Amino acid sequence: MQQLKLIPKVDRVLEWEGVRRLLAEQPRELVLKAVRQVLDLLRAGARAGSLDDAAFAENAVCAAVARELRMLTRPSLRRVINGSGIVIHTNLGRSILPEAARDALNTIAFSYSNLEFDLDEGVRGSRYSHVEALLCELTGAEAAIVVNNNAAAVLLTLSAMAAGREAVVSRGELVEIGGSFRIPEVMRLSGVTLREVGTTNRTHPKDYQNAVNEDTAVFLKVHCSNFAVLGFTKEVSAEEMVELGKKAGVPVLADMGSGNLVDLSGKLPCPEPTVQDFVRAGVDVITFSGDKLLGGPQAGIIVGKKHFIEAMKKHQLLRALRMDKLTLASLEATLALYRDEMVAFKEVPTLRMLTATLPELTARARKIAGQLRRRTPDAVSFKLTDGFSQAGGGTLPLLNLPTMLIEVAVDGLSPNDIESRLRGMEIPVIGRISKNAFLLDPRTLQDDDLPDLAAALTALVG
Ligand SMILES: *Cc1c(COP(=O)(O)O)cnc(C)c1O
Repeated sequence: MQQLKLIPKVDRVLEWEGVRRLLAEQPRELVLKAVRQVLDLLRAGARAGSLDDAAFAENAVCAAVARELRMLTRPSLRRVINGSGIVIHTNLGRSILPEAARDALNTIAFSYSNLEFDLDEGVRGSRYSHVEALLCELTGAEAAIVVNNNAAAVLLTLSAMAAGREAVVSRGELVEIGGSFRIPEVMRLSGVTLREVGTTNRTHPKDYQNAVNEDTAVFLKVHCSNFAVLGFTKEVSAEEMVELGKKAGVPVLADMGSGNLVDLSGKLPCPEPTVQDFVRAGVDVITFSGDKLLGGPQAGIIVGKKHFIEAMKKHQLLRALRMDKLTLASLEATLALYRDEMVAFKEVPTLRMLTATLPELTARARKIAGQLRRRTPDAVSFKLTDGFSQAGGGTLPLLNLPTMLIEVAVDGLSPNDIESRLRGMEIPVIGRISKNAFLLDPRTLQDDDLPDLAAALTALVG
């Protein structure tokens, strides 16, 4: 309690050289707030008897105020280092963009552009035109349009194709995606009546046939993105649904969720249909995300038959769901890489990370651990151990991708201490804890993360 006398007055702190320097750079109110917070902490420390007298000295207080001010002024949305091994980590921003998107973003963000200007005719143009031709070229569809995310794409599609009428969906496909996107709720929102058919594990062609009446507007197929039903199951394929739709005069709509454009067979041990497969099968309208397997920015992509897409282009909802120019620029740059599948596998980070092989990851883990050993104090140690990474983002739920993990140990710290302190760093590092070990997965560590990762690990000691 004696230390309470050591706490300086606010006015005095504001006159100290170290704080005057801060006042020259930041608004007075903000500096004042930082000073008060530091003095509150000193008061609490003095009462608890948890501080040395040195903590009350001018230099220590000035340093604490500067630190507090940095916390108050740093952006809320910050870069983090993803060592979790979850490639499409929804909480960490899903996909990171390919390098090609950097130039596109830089140019379009800081210049005027032909966003809605037809340069050939000199008249008003459409923002959707910039990616439509490319999407058609890549998927084989007749027409395309893009909105904010796949939830918006499903909402717009259902509103345009089935409002006031019925959509037939298998009970096995009434999914909820993380962030409480639920197919039945979205239907209600679009004014569509849900007609459930089949059972949780088995749905047959005749279930769709029997559901048809004069109010039937669409057959909807939903990708079971984030779960799998195993065992005694029966799903009606896209081809069968198209066949049934043709007979009944009902269009088929598919929410493909992850939106894969490349042949993943031979690269991943689980089948994932492509958008092209569904277009070829004759599905009328297909929606998918831009930032899941596609590896681009957050977007909802709709491809399909021209007359359906044209109706969406005229729909009032589109204005509320429309995509901004930065997303369009980075989406166009990402999609362009898919013109050559080899290029996409190399240049799109999400695809590159997902398809990295165990030998590649083992070499990478060795290299990273070696570099970290050289750049961190002896109290930090590294060991390689096998494990699995995940796709994440509600995609490929059964997929366990073999990887080589880097186990990090620090003298005097538990795995939980390491986890929480790395998460609290200036550039936070996100890893995972398994079997009482703190682990980093080289699959999702980026090359330019290394210096910052080494700095964070060094800061754990002392
Ligand atoms: C992820 C997903 C959505 C939602 O997509 P967002 O782009 O996150 O809005 C909808 N349907 C399915 C099947 C999904 O997998």
